[in-house]
Order: sequence, then structure tokens, then C-alpha cells
Amino acid sequence: MSRPDLSIDRITRSHDNLFTSVRLDRLAERREDPDWLRTALHSESARLVPLWRNRSLVTGSGERQRAVYLSPAEIGLDSLSQPPTLLGTDGKRCFFVVSISDRQREQVLAAHPEAQFLDLRLASIDMDAKHAGVLAYAKALHYWQYRHAFCGVCGSPNRLQSAGHRLICSNEECGRQSFPRIDPAIIVLVTQGDACLLGHNGSWPPRRFSTLAGFVEPGESLEDAVVREVFEEAGVRLCDIRYVSSQPWPFPASAMCGFYAEAASRDHRASTEMTEVRWFTAAELEAAIRADELRLPPPVSIAFRLIADWYLQCCGGDLETLVRSGGSWRPREQARRQS
Ligand SMILES: [Zn+2]
Repeated sequence: MSRPDLSIDRITRSHDNLFTSVRLDRLAERREDPDWLRTALHSESARLVPLWRNRSLVTGSGERQRAVYLSPAEIGLDSLSQPPTLLGTDGKRCFFVVSISDRQREQVLAAHPEAQFLDLRLASIDMDAKHAGVLAYAKALHYWQYRHAFCGVCGSPNRLQSAGHRLICSNEECGRQSFPRIDPAIIVLVTQGDACLLGHNGSWPPRRFSTLAGFVEPGESLEDAVVREVFEEAGVRLCDIRYVSSQPWPFPASAMCGFYAEAASRDHRASTEMTEVRWFTAAELEAAIRADELRLPPPVSIAFRLIADWYLQCCGGDLETLVRSGGSWRPREQARRQS
């Protein structure tokens, strides 16, 4: 793991967050071109990203997982309940996402005995960024289609349009259109002098501490949401906020907007959501990790990136190496238990 480069611009910094699919050309100009779509889907370069019950098809040797993409012939396009949704191209392959049935899942696993359908959150703990970006994009679009199968105005079934990027109500008198939805959320590492604020949510595993986060509410700016969430969760008043980077977070449909914030003082309190809130200097954080008194979120998350970049600035240390050496992340064992 290379050390994060704090001198890079925010575009690059956001691209470095896992689950960004920046490496794909989304081909938005082709979504309304049925002839082009048909040709692309039947070409040698077509690859299907299958989702079964919202789980992604992955395979891996050792600790590293990668996506398994299928040719259209392996699934049988005529057997699909919905037309494939266009994701985009990496210059060599053209990716489409498809939802598959239980029976198709059996066929796929028979042809790929080394593969399995896993929750992306677990599978991505050790995954190449390009694969993670494609799978996250596929999962997010598929989730939106699934959750908006019916019109929110008249209740009639919706139909896929624009190669899967638009839904239109099948009731011609209604004709309401809807577009992919994401829920904006803020995530913030609060600092005060040489310490940062981490919290433990009562619903998390024991010893898990992380940054503060919450959804942006109607009528709020992102900055308003940062100020409100930090006070609600930890009773801390802020005097400065700085945007850092963002991350698509398809669990199920968020866009995480990452900030650093400076607190006016170290006064704080716990809350119903954050049952424990503590200030840590870099040395205290390191000591707590080494003693396994504290466990951080996995490195795929922007929460970890915010903490790791702060730690690097404070003491020059590589937090990911420190955490991995302690063995508190055991991704493959976790994934097997959940599969
Ligand atoms: Zn309708």
C-alpha cells in the first residue's frame, strides 16, 4: 500500500476512493441508440455483470478478489426478465449489468466452479479498484431499478428506457419518468489541535470506532449537515469545515461526501447513536490499535481514508500497514461466513 499523496488535487483524490468507476466511458450518447446497443450486446467485446439477489459474482486466489464477467452466450439473452443495462466501456470490453434467476445462478456456478456470489461490501475488502468500480456501478443501478419497479404516482409498473438509465411509467396517461437516485451523506473527521474525534455506534461490533456520518436532510447544504450531525452525535461545535473527497457507496445507494472539520473545543458527549465518543492523538490511536482496544473501518471506506490521511499528516505513519499488521481485518473469513 503506497502512502496517500496529500498534495494531489481533489479530483484525483476522489478517484482514488474505491468504488469510483472513473475508468469506464459511460457512453451516455449511445443509450438512446437501439441499433448500436443491439450490435454492442452481440459483439465479441460484450461482457455481462451478473447480479443474483443483489450479490456480485467474484473469484479470488489468496486474499485478492476479482469480478467474473460473462459472455452473453453463457446466460442466454432471451431468458432474461429485463433487458441488459449498459454500463460503459473500458476501451476493450463493453459492460452490461443483468439480474439473474436462481436457475441461471446454478448454470453460472456450474460453468465457473471457482466463483461465488458475494455481498460486494465483503468481497471488495481486497479487490482491484477497476473491478470494484464496475461492480459498484452495476449494483447501484440494479438496486435503483429494483426499488422503483412501480410508478410512485399511479402505481403502474415502470419500464426500463435509455439502456436502463431511465424508468417510465407504463400507464400512458401518467407517463412519469424517473432517474437513478442516490442519497447524499456527509462523513467527517473532526479534529481539535493534535487530536481527532472517533465514535462507537452501539450497533457496531465491539471496539469499532470510526468517523461521524449522516444523511443530508431536505433543506440543508452539505456543510449544514456536517455541523448538525457532529453536534447531534457528539455534542461538538465546529469552527471550520474543509471538503476533502467523495465516494460512491452502493450500500445501498449513497454518495459519501468527505470532510475534515475543526472543533471549537474538545467538549463532547455521547448520544443515542454514538454511545462512546473519544479524542485520540496519533500516538494514542496507534497504541489503541496495537493493543487491539480499537478497530477501524475497512480500508475500502472513505472513513478509513480520512483517518489514515490525518494520521499520515500527524506523524508520517502508514495506518493501513499498522492495522493490517495487527490482523484485525480478516476479510476472507468474514466473507465466507456471510456467503
Ligand atoms: Zn404512473
